[in-house]
Amino acid sequence: MIETIGIVGAGQMGNGIAHVAAMAGYAVKLVDISADQLAGAVATIDRNLGRQVAKGKVSDADKAAGLARITTSTVMDFADCDLVIEAATENETVKRAIFAQICPTLRPQAILCTNTSSISVTRLGASTDRPERFMGMHFMNPVPVMQLVELIRGIATSQEVFAEIRTLTERLGKTPVSAEDFPAFIVNRILLPMINEAVYTLYEGVGSVSAIDTAMRLGSNHPMGPLELADFIGLDTCLAVMHVLHDGLADSKYRPCPLLVKYVEAGWLGRKTGKGFYDYSGETPVPTR
Ligand code: NAD
Repeated sequence: MIETIGIVGAGQMGNGIAHVAAMAGYAVKLVDISADQLAGAVATIDRNLGRQVAKGKVSDADKAAGLARITTSTVMDFADCDLVIEAATENETVKRAIFAQICPTLRPQAILCTNTSSISVTRLGASTDRPERFMGMHFMNPVPVMQLVELIRGIATSQEVFAEIRTLTERLGKTPVSAEDFPAFIVNRILLPMINEAVYTLYEGVGSVSAIDTAMRLGSNHPMGPLELADFIGLDTCLAVMHVLHDGLADSKYRPCPLLVKYVEAGWLGRKTGKGFYDYSGETPVPTR
């Protein structure tokens, strides 16, 4: 039975997963290499819960109880966890190094999941000491708001582990969808080529940032324009997913747009750095092109 959940990475996704798990009654141990990221994550969870209290969705007492269930640490020790969800940077070398570090601390029965957006779950699982107790649990951003979790079975994942994680997903109040272990799974296989095409549309001068976003919001009834959404996801993550599609499926239609590469090289990663296709330093976001 899963009672204590460890989370590696306290970025946008890690803090959202911690929020949802703590509010569903699980004890949460949030770990990051950066103490600043950990402090920021707790402040974000506090602020987001505060918003839910203001809307009357969560009581003050439940907010306090949820926050009290979260502990943070910069030490990668998960001996007391039944499940660890890895939500660190989308980089295979980083993730493999994390698994090498945490596996020796895990109980034999503990389950290990990755929140990767695109990397092969089978390959990541094979780098651990427990491929049969390893799978993909792909949350959507922002985690407290988005309903979906894609569940990805590696070739070695046991049926028992898959069923246990599906039950947990439902207990977190989310809807699971099963996806096969192919590059970028379902949502990002469809979404990221669309975002990449929006960047090409900008690169080729077909439309400005605001024209492209307005066109897709009003013309396709999308709640957010593709460039706005790219900034929200993080342009480094978008580029990483395009590389995985391009490498994994070997089809030129997945070629990352050079302008997306340029923005990432500039460190303009979207909302998280204050600048991407929009500049977020003022009251309202201003297009950067
Ligand atoms: P982020 O950049 O906001 O956070 C990554 C965190 O990982 C940072 O706090 C960083 O300090 C930490 N980290 C890096 N190396 C580490 C290490 N060795 N040990 C511990 N912590 C380490 O990124 P994010 O957007 O939260 O993405 C995290 C994961 O979730 C990625 O695999 C990404 O593909 C996936 N994901 C992202 C989204 C999205 O929309 N951003 C959606 C679904 C899944």
